[in-house]
Amino acid sequence: MTLAAGIDVGGTKCLGVVIDLDRDNVGERDIVRQLRHPTPHASELVDALVDMASELGEVDSIAVGVPGLITLEGVMRASPNIPGSVDVAVGPELTARLGRRVHVDNDGNLAALAEWRYGAGRGARNMWMVTLGTGIGGGHVLNGVVQRGVNGFAGEIGHTVVNPDGPRCTCGRKGCWEVYASGRGLGMLASGEPGESVIHRAREGDADAITVLEAFSRWVAIGLSNITNVSDPDVIVIGGGVSEAADVLMPMVRRWFVETLYSPEQRTHPDLRVAQLGEHAGAIGAALLPMFAS
Ligand SMILES: [Zn+2]
Repeated sequence: MTLAAGIDVGGTKCLGVVIDLDRDNVGERDIVRQLRHPTPHASELVDALVDMASELGEVDSIAVGVPGLITLEGVMRASPNIPGSVDVAVGPELTARLGRRVHVDNDGNLAALAEWRYGAGRGARNMWMVTLGTGIGGGHVLNGVVQRGVNGFAGEIGHTVVNPDGPRCTCGRKGCWEVYASGRGLGMLASGEPGESVIHRAREGDADAITVLEAFSRWVAIGLSNITNVSDPDVIVIGGGVSEAADVLMPMVRRWFVETLYSPEQRTHPDLRVAQLGEHAGAIGAALLPMFAS
């Protein structure tokens, strides 16, 4: 057994898992150990991660996923959902405190790595994952390598602008894709009605709810088409809370995707797949990181 620990730092909770890297297949039921802690203020984050590392027990490696802009050295430059998270040296401090190399990467990159290795993206050569949660996370795995960019900031697909005069995004700019195609965006398109409620009404056949979901699916499809135009992937994996409504949303997204795709008749369409690793994707991806990090 090769035991690898991964901790996924979220806006509200940190999820830690231990998996066995010698297994060919790791799903949510194959997690050896797991634990959860509330996410503290950024000034206490490293202390909390040191505690979690010791609670996860003896392992061969440990790595961490955090949201926001993470440098190649593992420094959290900024994270909108974690108060106080400006220039927190998560990777270097953990490496010093734990006495072993601790890799740190963006949570969207790690969810993509996990889905590529064990989930819906298995076998893909050029895979994107978009996580449609409260905001939008993105990750790109090309020929088995997570694409991190020059600074570590690649894959921030949620902040590509789709309407420069649109509503304000959490990043301060206007009309980012995330404003429309995230869980928050669905709430906005539904005039404040919670997304779960709209989806429930659409499942019952309510025409107004279906209209809202059509508009939402169109926005989702526009972003997926933009990814396709830039990157020509063979697979796009869709995860996050929104993917739990895949039964009603995916048929609409697939239809709008063909509508919005450049030259749809002349190309092989990427396979749009629903994520398989659920809320554990980020933590499983963190556990995989040392094996794939350069
Ligand atoms: Zn934005």
